[in-house]
Amino acid sequence: MSAAAAKRRRIGILGGTFDPVHIGHLRSALEVADALAFDELRLVPNFRPPHRETPQVSPSQRLQMVELAAAGVAPLRVDGRELLRDKPSYTIDTLESMRAELGSEAPLFLLLGWDAFCGLPGWHRWAELLGHCHIVVLQRPDADIEPPDALRNLLAARQVSDPKALKGPAGQITFAWQTPLAVSATQIRQLLASGKSVRFLVPDAVLAYIEANGLYRSPL
Ligand code: ATP
Repeated sequence: MSAAAAKRRRIGILGGTFDPVHIGHLRSALEVADALAFDELRLVPNFRPPHRETPQVSPSQRLQMVELAAAGVAPLRVDGRELLRDKPSYTIDTLESMRAELGSEAPLFLLLGWDAFCGLPGWHRWAELLGHCHIVVLQRPDADIEPPDALRNLLAARQVSDPKALKGPAGQITFAWQTPLAVSATQIRQLLASGKSVRFLVPDAVLAYIEANGLYRSPL
């Protein structure tokens, strides 16, 4: 790849606690990566303060499970930078640090569920986010799409209806419609805590890791 092509790689970013990563995350990530022709989709495990971590499951174990899930699955990648800090990262910090590495030309796409998007006005330095990335709102086909007042003007100014028509490295908002699989990490933790199997809800390599390390066995 030429240096110029490397600078223009289309990179999606999906943050989450991934406690543990499951097929809902992975399938959704692949579908949006395909729909928006990403060269890379980075799974970014979020830091959580120690008192909010699941007992007996460390940040590095959450990271290793995401690495096992994404290994060899293009275009998925894992970016552990938020876990390497000793405090929660604001999304703006993560974007600034990625921009410093990738340069100003690479199109970056921050993936957010509808609920997270509606909460955006409460985020640290939220008005600066679109200076670093596009925002792709992952929306369910049956969902209500009335945005809160605080976001109405922003959407009027920045929304592009065709996700493929997003232009430039940052600055626009679009919606990607997906039917999520009915799987959650909460459900997986509950099954494991009651001694049940989570086979086929997580990749086999993640299942083997959970079993080998005896994770999520204690009552929640
Ligand atoms: P928990 O049950 O612990 O709250 P979770 O399964 O919702 O966890 P997170 O790590 O909080 O997982 O999610 C990371 C991202 O993945 C969020 O944007 C969330 O909306 C999305 N996500 C979670 N579950 C699914 C799913 N089944 N299908 C598609 N996206 C999902």
